Parts: sequence; C-alpha cells; structure tokens
Amino acid sequence: MTTIALNLQSVRARIAAACAAAGRDVNEVTLLAVAKTFGPDAVREAHAAGANAIGENYIQEAVEKQLLLSDLDLQWHCIGPIQSNKTRLVATHFDWAQTVDRLKIAQRLNEQRPADLPPLAVCIQVNIDGGPSKSGVAPGEVLALAREVHALPRLALRGLMTIPEPVDDFAGQLAVHRKARTLFEDLRDAGLPLDTLSMGMTADMEAAIHAGSTMVRVGTAIFGGRGAAR
Ligand SMILES: *Cc1c(COP(=O)(O)O)cnc(C)c1O
Repeated sequence: MTTIALNLQSVRARIAAACAAAGRDVNEVTLLAVAKTFGPDAVREAHAAGANAIGENYIQEAVEKQLLLSDLDLQWHCIGPIQSNKTRLVATHFDWAQTVDRLKIAQRLNEQRPADLPPLAVCIQVNIDGGPSKSGVAPGEVLALAREVHALPRLALRGLMTIPEPVDDFAGQLAVHRKARTLFEDLRDAGLPLDTLSMGMTADMEAAIHAGSTMVRVGTAIFGGRGAAR
C-alpha cells in the first residue's frame, strides 16, 4: 500500500474509534481529504484508496488540479477564503463552498452558478471562538445570514463550518465544538433544513466527532506535513 493509502486507513480507524466512543454511527461522519499544496498525483492516490471528497483552500490551484483529474469522480469542496473576484471560479468548478460568511458572496455564487449544474452546496463559516482570523460570521449573526442564504435558489444551504484556534487538550477542543453544535441545533430548531456540521481537523477530529461533527476535514494525517511555506 502507498503511504497515502495507509494514512487514510488510520484516519478511518480514528474516525471509527471516535464514533464508537461517542455512541455514533460511523456513517454519520464524512471524511473530506484536504489536499491543499499537494499535487494531482497525491489526490489520484487518495482517490484510488477510496477518498472521493476533496477539500481545497486555494481556488486557482484547485482549478488547475481539477483539470488534470477530470477523469475521476470527485466531489470538490472550497474550504478557503472566497474573495469577490473568485466567486465565478467557485460557482463553476466546485460542488461545495464551505466558507460563505457574507451575503454578498452568497449572492454572487447564486448568480454565477451555471444552470446545468445542481445548486451549489453551501456552509456558513462561523467564527465560533472569536478567534483573530477575520473569517467567519459572529455566532449572533448566523441565523439572519442563514435565512438569507437559504432563500437563494441556486444555493443549497447545508450547514455550518468552523475553524477554531488550535487548542491542545481534548476538553478545551470539546468545549469549542460543543458551541458550534448548539448553534447548529438552534438553526435547525428555527426551521432551517441543515444536515452538515463541518468541524474537526487532524489535531481535533476526535473532539469534533464527540461534539457532533458530520464532516471532518483532514489534511496532514492523510497527505503529510505541508512545511512552513503556507
Ligand atoms: C488545512 C485545512 C484543514 C486540514 O488541516 P490539517 O490540520 O492538515 O488536517 C481543514 N480545514 C481547513 C479550512 C484547512 O485550511
């Protein structure tokens, strides 16, 4: 087996163990393989080992990779910041946009989603821990934005996505992820038909799963370290 195949196997084992510990069905948690900075060959290897959902942060880099992998049946998720001048690329080349945090970006994606594609699946990115990264809507503003995004016909609002600041201990990770879970349930109670809570990465996927994550986004544990360049 290749390194990537072995890594995928151990990530799946981590997910299964976390689900078992949390009393959850392993099928409730989707694995998104985050391939930023890794080339098309690495993605091809991951696909051969069963990965079919790929997360990318850098939109231009992703589009170039997609061209070289068009023979594969892959679902592409944009998980990086989306500037206004990149919305057309996202609307045209991706299946999911997980980092919507402003109505203006949602409106552009809605207008630019090609008619021959299904609605673009969308998550609203929430700044769940008030971290210094400017991305993500404040928790108190999520419901209003979610209602507006839900009304856009060429988008399919699926849920929430978070990127909390790194925390070392399980209890601390769990506390932050539980806040996101509560917010997610609040939105569902308000009538929004959400099914996706995208949270948890290499370092904190167990805590995220414990708190109710339905999608973990894993890069390092599958593809290896990315070095300091990015
Ligand atoms: C890079 C990245 C990941 C994966 O992080 P790892 O720690 O390498 O697993 C997940 N989500 C987002 C938004 C990222 O930018």
